[in-house]
Amino acid sequence: MHNLCNAQCVLCVQPHYDDNDIGAGGTIAALSAAGVSVVYLTVTDDLVGVLDASLAEDEARQRLREEQRRAGEIIGVQQHYWLEYADAGPIDYYALRRDIAAYIRRLRPDYVFTVDPWLPYEAHQDHILTGRAVAEAAILYHLPRFKTLPEVDAAYQLHVLRGVVFYLTHAPNIFYDISSTVEIKHHALQTYCMQFTDMDMRALLEKLTKTERQCGERGGVERAEALKVLDPAQLHIHLNV
Ligand SMILES: [Zn+2]
Repeated sequence: MHNLCNAQCVLCVQPHYDDNDIGAGGTIAALSAAGVSVVYLTVTDDLVGVLDASLAEDEARQRLREEQRRAGEIIGVQQHYWLEYADAGPIDYYALRRDIAAYIRRLRPDYVFTVDPWLPYEAHQDHILTGRAVAEAAILYHLPRFKTLPEVDAAYQLHVLRGVVFYLTHAPNIFYDISSTVEIKHHALQTYCMQFTDMDMRALLEKLTKTERQCGERGGVERAEALKVLDPAQLHIHLNV
């Protein structure tokens, strides 16, 4: 049985700057409050989602990071890293898998959070590629002949990744109680202005509230987030016995 609160460190890998917080912000805030070290790794540069087309790219990048840092302070994120792949692609899947595996080796997390890439309907390749690259990195990171970056590989001592936590999932196996952190999550989300009009944000928060209540009912608590937590061994030739 997975007890996320017992983790020392969780690495949360998101395609875009707000996915971790939308999908699992309440859970992540609860883990941070319990003393878990929370690190965010953002895959893309997020520029395609910026609403103001007249804004210079450098200015847009800076403002996106400022928003993300402010939200992270509210949630309790200790460290941010960015890979800066182009938003909406093209993304080299194998380079992404290598980069994510390098962070797993560097940071030695107990759990990696990411989007569920196996939704019946998910059109965004950034989400599909990120979720799949995390899942595959989770079954390869420990193999001595698997290469990431020479300096990372040389320093790596074997550790155990206990699980992958997929959020925004259609097949949850955990309804994580976020009753005490839901306000923190919604407060953090309201710092995201570059990609949301006020109306978009209100709609998002309304939808989230409904979903969190429904998940809460299924989990027997007031508010919850739906998560799919899998042992890495369940991500390759998994035999159900
Ligand atoms: Zn996204």
